[in-house]
Amino acid sequence: MTDDTDDTDDGFDTTVHYDEDADRSYIDDKTVAVLGYGSQGHAHAQNLSESGVDVVVGLREGSSSRDAAEADGLRVATPVEAASEADIVSMLVPDTVQPDVFEAVREELDAGDTLQFAHGFNIHYNQIRPPEDVDVTMVAPKSPGHLVRRNYEADQGTPGLLAVYQDASGDAREEGLAYAHAIGCTRAGVIETTFREETETDLFGEQAVLCGGVTSLVKQGYETLVEAGYSREMAYFEVLNELKLIVDLMYEGGLGGMWDSVSDTAEYGGLVRGDEIVDEHARENMEEVLEAVQNGTFAREWIAENQAGRPSYTQLRTAEKNHDIEDVGEDLRSLFAWGEDEASESESESDEEEQERTGMRADD
Ligand code: NAD
Ligand code: MG
Repeated sequence: MTDDTDDTDDGFDTTVHYDEDADRSYIDDKTVAVLGYGSQGHAHAQNLSESGVDVVVGLREGSSSRDAAEADGLRVATPVEAASEADIVSMLVPDTVQPDVFEAVREELDAGDTLQFAHGFNIHYNQIRPPEDVDVTMVAPKSPGHLVRRNYEADQGTPGLLAVYQDASGDAREEGLAYAHAIGCTRAGVIETTFREETETDLFGEQAVLCGGVTSLVKQGYETLVEAGYSREMAYFEVLNELKLIVDLMYEGGLGGMWDSVSDTAEYGGLVRGDEIVDEHARENMEEVLEAVQNGTFAREWIAENQAGRPSYTQLRTAEKNHDIEDVGEDLRSLFAWGEDEASESESESDEEEQERTGMRADD
């Protein structure tokens, strides 16, 4: 069943697709080259393969991911070889290295083949300009790869996005939906969007709210308490540790679910003071951040930053690592058993994985 819930006038359609909307014949006899075997790559490759789709993983000779893919029972080739035999090329290397990988494989894209993405950055900001006779689609699970894999194994789904940028064959959308089915996304629901909407909302969300906004709020709350003479430990628990409990409540029941669960004092205080903290000025800043995403200023800045060898990024990372809250947090988390359990259970990135993700490894 397809839900059409486009009752907004924002120009973006909202259509949700489920299993029964997908026609697997659009992918079942095709070969998919999954380029990259990181967070998304390993999940797409294994899910597709278990769904009966022919998969070849494209990795450079000597890539440390080759062993992992082979150990998982998958066929491995170079990106060029994989793309050459594939009907669908799924671009799952880091966004910053995709333009180079695309240039290496572009000759292998035949008319009617599909170039597929899990994020729209390089298409939307013209860092990749595909040939006109190929389909260009996006199937983007709204979740880290290890959950895409874990949910599939548990017969559950992972919500995802579907977008078509270029439909040369006439079947781009049907094929994308079939791919979403094969990796388990239509079990949970696939929202139809555009490359522009996905890219701009993704960048805005991570900058203004999810990654940037939240960390700034936490650091400033911590600094305010510590500078006023409260203990670092109390400040850490109050503004960082408890954040998870609040976010879990919002995730389960929306803002209302959270307000229902906290005390009346917390609810009144939060309602009356929240907008004083994140006020009209913060809102104006958000609008500027969104504008920089929309007009390409942020994209140009990030591309130039990479071309220059990431000088500001490296400096900012170091400053963040050296913030006092990281210091006290590390000590406190090591004191609690739950800290250790969670650290060993979660698939948090090791330095090595992180280097791979950023494309900084020499051996890839
Ligand atoms: P990743 O960093 O986890 O994996 C990268 C893979 O590419 C690794 O297998 C690595 O070995 C390989 N690789 C690195 N450099 C390479 C190079 N120079 N040449 C060839 N291969 C190279 O990547 P990811 O996070 O899975 O991201 C892949 C795509 O999925 C991106 O477009 C990203 O925006 C998108 N995406 C990611 C997530 C997520 O949760 N990680 C969620 C949705 C969409
Ligand atoms: Mg995101």
